[in-house]
Amino acid sequence: MTAATIMPESGNAVAPMKLALLPHEPEGDARVCLTPQDTAVLTADGHRLAVPNNPSIDPAFSVNAFTDGGASFTDDVATAAECLLTLHPPSETLIARLDARHTLVGFLAPFERPEVIASLAEKGLTAVALELVPRTTIAQSMDALSSQASLAGYAAVMLAASRLAKALPMMSTAAGTIRPAKVLVLGAGVAGLQAIATAQRLGARVTAFDVRATAAEQVRSLGAKFASLPEAEDAETAGGYAKEASQAQLERQREHLKGLCSASDIVITTAQVFGRPAPTLVTEAMVDAMQPGSIIVDAAASTGGNVEIGRPDEDLVRNGVTVISDTILAARVARDASQVLSANIVALLKRIIDPTTARVKAEGEDEIADAVTVVRDGRITDERVAAQINQQGSST
Ligand code: NAD
Repeated sequence: MTAATIMPESGNAVAPMKLALLPHEPEGDARVCLTPQDTAVLTADGHRLAVPNNPSIDPAFSVNAFTDGGASFTDDVATAAECLLTLHPPSETLIARLDARHTLVGFLAPFERPEVIASLAEKGLTAVALELVPRTTIAQSMDALSSQASLAGYAAVMLAASRLAKALPMMSTAAGTIRPAKVLVLGAGVAGLQAIATAQRLGARVTAFDVRATAAEQVRSLGAKFASLPEAEDAETAGGYAKEASQAQLERQREHLKGLCSASDIVITTAQVFGRPAPTLVTEAMVDAMQPGSIIVDAAASTGGNVEIGRPDEDLVRNGVTVISDTILAARVARDASQVLSANIVALLKRIIDPTTARVKAEGEDEIADAVTVVRDGRITDERVAAQINQQGSST
């Protein structure tokens, strides 16, 4: 994709986009929203990008790499640009510097951090949440949740394998046979399927579980076993996501998974429910029943986690079992994650920005622009997020 496609096909005057990367917060995330390569394409087309000092800790994304691509350096992104790109919900300090001129585009955690959306709305600005890109064929190239989830699934297995004091594949040696490691993957969506494929390639014996019936076929097609729950109803919504399980259903699932967990060397959990906290699938008692030396990686930690005792961005060891709850697993492969994220963002901007105004297309003009715009000129336009903010307001 080239940024030339951002230009209008008509002969109307074009307003160049004035973009900036927000300083990376938290410090540990080495990804960037736009790569220097995509920057070069955008600036060649007349758009402008300003980068803060130290846009990333990855040397491939130094200020020099960006300025070589035509970007300028700024120590004040809020005044340098109108369209700000962010990897995470911005801090209150940064929000305080924004106003109605700004459009914020990035991962804004609208359901986990509704208070941030409320603060953005108070500023009268426009905010676009990457989490709200529809899961449709037409929006696939803009689907940053999927691109990052896929790399997170890969990173989860590599992380677990690096902590496990066992090899993953079967090995026949003169001194005897080493048995393959057993890997259990809970949740077989985008991240889970990539985790299954990665563990299979490394030679592990993989079993997976999901509440959606279509996931079973996908798991089996990767050569892994599917742990079906007898008499369970298919829990897929019309949008392809999972329905939230009731407490009774979750209880049955945990009962079903207990033995599988205790027999596994690695458990990767990826189960999420769109717009809701992640379900607890691995209880404290289930961790206690696992063999010392086993590893759990909770890839759902950013939405609350699937492991009862997990703590976001902390590694715990309990009775010899390690629980890793990394909320930004994709950042462990920051270059590839940035490359695909940057491509997603360029595709999204191309679709939702009106080239004659360099602002998000007017309401009703484009279904994808409408879906991703969570705040429009200070008005919260996503009903689910607005309801959550109201609920928070009435409970405080
Ligand atoms: P997700 O991150 O919301 O959830 C991950 C997985 O957890 C899902 O497979 C879900 O079924 C599962 N899960 C939820 N509750 C569970 C529970 N109690 N026990 C076990 N598993 C549970 O989902 P996702 O990875 O973003 O993908 C969801 C669906 O959307 C999939 O069908 C995927 O193929 C589809 N999708 C479609 C497109 C597209 O058409 N462009 C893009 C991305 C994803």
